[in-house]
Amino acid sequence: MELSSMAMRVPIGVHNIIRRLQSSGFQTFLVGGCVRDLIQGKEPADFDLVTSAEPEETESLFHSVLDVGKRFGTVMVQHEGISAEVTTMRREDDYRDARRPDTVFFHKSLSDDMLRRDFTINALAFDGTKLFDFTSGLRDLHLKTIRCVGDPDRRFAEDGLRLMRAIRLAAELDFSIDSKTWDSVVNLAEIICRVSRERIRKEMERILLCDHPSVGLALLSASGILQLIIQVPELENVTLKSVDWGLVDQMEKVMVTRLAVFLLLLFGMDCILSEGFTHGGKEPIRGLLTKLSFPKRIVTPVVNLLSEVPRLPCFKDSDARRIVNRIGREAASQNFGFFSAAGALLGYPSEVTAGWVSKIQQTLLNDEPVGISDLAVTGHDLIEQGWVQGPAVKSALEYLLEMVLDDPEMNKKSVLLAHARRMMIME
Ligand code: ATP
Ligand code: MG
Repeated sequence: MELSSMAMRVPIGVHNIIRRLQSSGFQTFLVGGCVRDLIQGKEPADFDLVTSAEPEETESLFHSVLDVGKRFGTVMVQHEGISAEVTTMRREDDYRDARRPDTVFFHKSLSDDMLRRDFTINALAFDGTKLFDFTSGLRDLHLKTIRCVGDPDRRFAEDGLRLMRAIRLAAELDFSIDSKTWDSVVNLAEIICRVSRERIRKEMERILLCDHPSVGLALLSASGILQLIIQVPELENVTLKSVDWGLVDQMEKVMVTRLAVFLLLLFGMDCILSEGFTHGGKEPIRGLLTKLSFPKRIVTPVVNLLSEVPRLPCFKDSDARRIVNRIGREAASQNFGFFSAAGALLGYPSEVTAGWVSKIQQTLLNDEPVGISDLAVTGHDLIEQGWVQGPAVKSALEYLLEMVLDDPEMNKKSVLLAHARRMMIME
């Protein structure tokens, strides 16, 4: 691997942050994911630095420095249009002896810093010229292996989040997990129950949005972690290990779509189609997602999508309008893949599911009436006609909407008012 080509891929602003710290006498290294990405020839998403400078010393060297965790030694340096997180290397007291030569002093503290990291591929440091590898991380990067730094049992016991990180990294990078590390993941799976729901959810989101989520989902179920995260009575006696998650990979990288398809596979069609599963009752999916700390903007469209599945087996044109009515235009336009996936799981050939999708697309494109606000009459029109303001008007509009959903040709003021008049006489 060419160190010079690695250096060339570091943005000039980040180089200049490193240089300024180094020329002020502070050892400074790029660490973590960005070094991994640089070695793999990828564009790093963000840059993490460790330095021997104290946060105050870093602050004094740059105009714009934000406190993002100064108590733990981390500040964010903004320089020449780029940001980098700069963390002070933790130095053990032994190494605070100023008489020791700098190289020894800092090498020791850099190695300490690296040895505290989770996996060998994350424990590489680059100072702009030289690569520092205390844990054979480079070998593991070439072997495409996730391996704990040190004893896996100890490292997972220290921090259960590392279980999810191992699996998420394996999925994101398409790496395998070293057998000793994997044995530990399986043996210590229960530790996941000590990790906060938010952190689990964040890792889960990253797994779902990577190129091959099925890799991560298979590892989560094979390790037993998935069963521990998702504890609902409906899945108590279900074996998840044999589930094929491949359908999730085929979905667009849209959180709602991927999460909804994951849940289709997790619960299975029989469960999803069963009475009261998605609405009108205990709604286990809403409860589960809320417990996992998914925000409402994700939970609501996912539950809505799953609620529409029972409509699919006898899909008519009017169902396309009802689907758009129930899930909203935005969710409908972003989730065509969900309906193809659900159709495939229900056993329909792709020509059939493509027909459903094209009808939903047509509904959106033609701006077909799908809601009360699309009706050619308003509540005021009905009140002028003699309806008493209040719930009766609302029910009348809902009734008219049902008619229009069945047949959009009915959406004419005169036709709807005539129907409304007949309804009033019948009441
Ligand atoms: P990405 O930014 O793509 O998620 P990353 O490897 O940079 O990947 P971060 O979460 O940004 O991940 O963490 C930066 C580095 O901090 C990691 O590479 C790793 O060295 C270390 N690290 C993060 N979380 C842990 C942890 N739970 N235990 C030990 N080391 C960790
Ligand atoms: Mg990072």
